[in-house]
Amino acid sequence: MQTVLVIEDESSIADTIAHGVEREGYVAVRCERGLEGLERLKAGDCALVVLDIGLPDVNGFDLCKAIRAFSDVPVIFLTARDEEIDKIVGLEIGADDYVTKPFSPRELAARIKTVLRRARDGPAAKAAPPAPGNGLGIDTDKLQATYAGRRLELTRSEFRLLSLLAAHPGRVYSRESIMDTLWGAGSPSLDRTVDAHVKSLRAKFREIDESLDPILTHRGTGYALREGL
Ligand code: CA
Repeated sequence: MQTVLVIEDESSIADTIAHGVEREGYVAVRCERGLEGLERLKAGDCALVVLDIGLPDVNGFDLCKAIRAFSDVPVIFLTARDEEIDKIVGLEIGADDYVTKPFSPRELAARIKTVLRRARDGPAAKAAPPAPGNGLGIDTDKLQATYAGRRLELTRSEFRLLSLLAAHPGRVYSRESIMDTLWGAGSPSLDRTVDAHVKSLRAKFREIDESLDPILTHRGTGYALREGL
């Protein structure tokens, strides 16, 4: 049986997660503190880590970086609503996925399965990072994106939309989840706002290459970034 390490200081949430993963046939190991979790991970035999961002002793992002220094173990972040802006950053520093609180145990279990399957299928199944100067490049420090070595002149919202989609090429993001991530949950923005940003983003790609349509529309569902850009 595979072991899922749950690093979460709120015991009610940790309980929910542990029950959820055990119901799916995994063994759950719980740690309330980040450094304790790191030690447990170093001891070996963990297939996946569910990592809370807000821990009492260390920030989840820093812990993820520390994990990445010695391990490729899949990491799923747990984020609170007000930390949503950090999601994109989280994925950039090597997390494999994230789940926003409050979440359903079913949703988390589905994410765990997907991430473990991807890990099992090997790195070839993961999206390859874009080569610099070729294909799509995203610099989250400078808030700049490039395609084929040319700079895309994006607004902040367009940049964040592109970063979100590029975190998982091929994955379909609903308009609702895009809105939640870009403008916060319960924002008064309309679905059309997302459509308008997608439209302007497409136009900016076309300025570089007329035949380029990097964003796929899934009717009634949402948008995805084309794989292999
Ligand atoms: Ca917490």
